[in-house]
Amino acid sequence: MSLERLVNPHILDLEPYTPGKPIEAVERELGISGSVKLASNENPLGPSPKALAALGKIASDVNRYPDGACFELRARLSERLGVAREQLVFGCGADEILELLAKTFLAPGVEAVMPWPSFAMYPIVVKGMGGTVVQVPLTEAMGHDLSAMLEAISERTRIVFVCNPNNPTGTSIGSDEFARFVAALPDHVVLAVDEAYFEFVRRPDYPDTLALIAERPGTIVLRTFSKIYGLAGLRVGYGIGSAEIVGYLERARHPFNVNRLAEEAALAALDDAEHARRTYEMNSEGIDFLTRELSALGHRVWPSDANFVLVRTGEGGYYDALLRQGVIVRPLGGFGLDDCIRISVGTPDENQRCVKAMQRIQETEANA
Ligand SMILES: *Cc1c(COP(=O)(O)O)cnc(C)c1O
Repeated sequence: MSLERLVNPHILDLEPYTPGKPIEAVERELGISGSVKLASNENPLGPSPKALAALGKIASDVNRYPDGACFELRARLSERLGVAREQLVFGCGADEILELLAKTFLAPGVEAVMPWPSFAMYPIVVKGMGGTVVQVPLTEAMGHDLSAMLEAISERTRIVFVCNPNNPTGTSIGSDEFARFVAALPDHVVLAVDEAYFEFVRRPDYPDTLALIAERPGTIVLRTFSKIYGLAGLRVGYGIGSAEIVGYLERARHPFNVNRLAEEAALAALDDAEHARRTYEMNSEGIDFLTRELSALGHRVWPSDANFVLVRTGEGGYYDALLRQGVIVRPLGGFGLDDCIRISVGTPDENQRCVKAMQRIQETEANA
């Protein structure tokens, strides 16, 4: 007997998230070695050495349950961010905060508004609760169409997602534009601002969402240790909001959702300002390098405030061709961007390799 008729219809409707392929899988399939992965917006410098040392120390304690309240990390971040401890909620990655939001505010019959293309987890968590996904296309410049998003809000809307900078485009929203959007936002919707790439942002007028939290209780800001802190494999992220909204999310949270290793490593990474600074600088140079070199090859590269660039390579399988040269990037066909790829910034060597591979592909095409 098939189990299909037992499954919730909104779960049947879900397509599993397609993650970037692990290097090992790609190399096995293609029979190559020494490839570089520029596909998942990870930190190419690796984790902070301080985090690694902390992991070594805590490893022998993993017979114990973690501290479900994340007491130490909460205290450190509350100090750092200037918010009260009860304004923070921790998750198994920021992904879990997205899921807590969906569990808390969504059900069949209600809607969530989001930009599109944007982070692939938004529709997954919304559909997972049986909510209706309302996707608002990006502008021509690949930025949020904030006025169209306002228009898409109905009586049934419960959550509006803003991804700043936006994944997979790298585009960002400035403070004036953001303030106008927030001023026009009705009270009956929760505003979720995903700032996974916050630490990489270069624009000086990036919105101060922590100030907004004090004014608008139905707001939650998401951040993560997966990107600049280089701890994607440990899974720890957090939400910052009013004590009220955080209190509701806490009800939906499992008690031991952040593991012991993750909490210790996150604490140590927060203290490693040097590692974060080096990552920021290397990324900033990498964005400039990739933008300059790939534009010179005739590709359109969108301005990025994150640790990746969106590149229009044109129709024709740059993704596969790059793969054959051992450069793994992210294809975007699933977003309807068949002619684009997303390239995560790597080390200077890795970026060079990517540009060289793109050059070679062009030469091969020209000679064909
Ligand atoms: C990477 C990412 C996240 C969350 O990452 P976690 O590893 O779950 O913390 C959230 N939003 C966006 C836009 C991302 O790119």
